[in-house]
Amino acid sequence: MATDNNRTLIYNARIVNEGTVTSGYVLIDGEIIGEVGAGAAPQALEELASEKIDAAERLLLPGAIDGHVHFRDPGLTHKADMATESRAAVAGGVTSFIDMPNTVPATTSIAAVEDKMARAAQVSCANYGFFIGATNTNLDELLAADYSKIAGVKLFLGSSTGNMLVDSESAISRIFSEVPALIAVHAEDENIISANRKTFGEEYGDDAPINFHPAIRSRKACLEATRRAVEGARKYGARLHVLHVSTADELQFFSAGPVECKRITAETCPQYLLFCDEHYQTFGARIKCNPAIKRASDREALRKAVADGVIDVISTDHAPHLEQEKQGGALKAVSGMPMVQFSLPVMVTLASEGTFTIEQVVEKMCHNPAKIFGIERRGFIRPGYYADLVLVDDSCEPYSVDSGMILSKCGWSPLEGAPLRAKTDITWVNGRQVWRYGVLFSSASAKALVFKQNQ
Ligand SMILES: [Zn+2]
Repeated sequence: MATDNNRTLIYNARIVNEGTVTSGYVLIDGEIIGEVGAGAAPQALEELASEKIDAAERLLLPGAIDGHVHFRDPGLTHKADMATESRAAVAGGVTSFIDMPNTVPATTSIAAVEDKMARAAQVSCANYGFFIGATNTNLDELLAADYSKIAGVKLFLGSSTGNMLVDSESAISRIFSEVPALIAVHAEDENIISANRKTFGEEYGDDAPINFHPAIRSRKACLEATRRAVEGARKYGARLHVLHVSTADELQFFSAGPVECKRITAETCPQYLLFCDEHYQTFGARIKCNPAIKRASDREALRKAVADGVIDVISTDHAPHLEQEKQGGALKAVSGMPMVQFSLPVMVTLASEGTFTIEQVVEKMCHNPAKIFGIERRGFIRPGYYADLVLVDDSCEPYSVDSGMILSKCGWSPLEGAPLRAKTDITWVNGRQVWRYGVLFSSASAKALVFKQNQ
């Protein structure tokens, strides 16, 4: 095991960083990246290193930063908890996560965020940060929050799991105009969804077949809520981040270009890039999530938007439930699926198939989350940055996820049976190996993320 005084030389790596792939080496010095270079490592570094790792031309990436997870802790820990899910994260190459506020109690006060930080400090294997949730009545908390410690404000413009629907126009306008931080929005129009639910309920009773999920949580519900969020953000000058974009239609609200120049950014998730409505037949409610997975044409448009720079971030919306909670159809089964352990292998697999490039995967999963949230000294392979790194084998034999690999507490994955062509071999968090060839080294090396809000 590495120690705090370790010097690890990783050589013969294909380093993917800041738009290029370079053959070279990285020296980890304690918890920090000491040196990065092209070609063979200098003799002096070889002598300095206490451990040397031949990367054998595998990919060396910055650890992924997942800006959208639901680790269910506190209150829903029968589904997942901070310890189990942070282990799943590092097993996949996710070295930092930002957790959402729909826990029990809901994270809608500064005190509730502090409770989560204290819990994470004790048990998390990955670096951690938290959103504070907006309600119709907690503007005081949102304005008093220290946004160097809190990633931003989560605003549910539609209903979702938890009870944080913000539907008061005056609350929304004050949040947009007064909160000095990034506002991440779940955009689905509740009125449209309720009307659809009523229609399908009248026809089918308690439950409706799963393939109607995207008809109930419809594309129109997404389009209207995203339109409203974007209009509000423009009107009040808010820094808006639209979560889990699921339709081609919503892409009209976003523009290509460097994330530094944007006031409105967009996220999508691996499930919207992998699956489409044809998969409800095979996977049933396993792939039920909110917003719903929609048509093949949406999936194609989203893939193109990732490649074109219209989508800025890939996060997982990792939202585990027990398998027995996923029973039923479009009205009864709960929404959400685990994803954090396999998001990076999935995205590297899609890159190997030519859907987008490996440089773009690193941009959307590492660089851009660091930029969007202003995360200090993470997300890039640069001297002086924390040594959050991941060694990925992208020439492994194709394999599929089986239940024995799954570290999430829920014990299942929507990816079981899906072929993957990339595997996370080693993950470093703050210079320490926490995952190595299928073995987890439990570690207290994780830190709270520090945010430099520039909103
Ligand atoms: Zn979510």
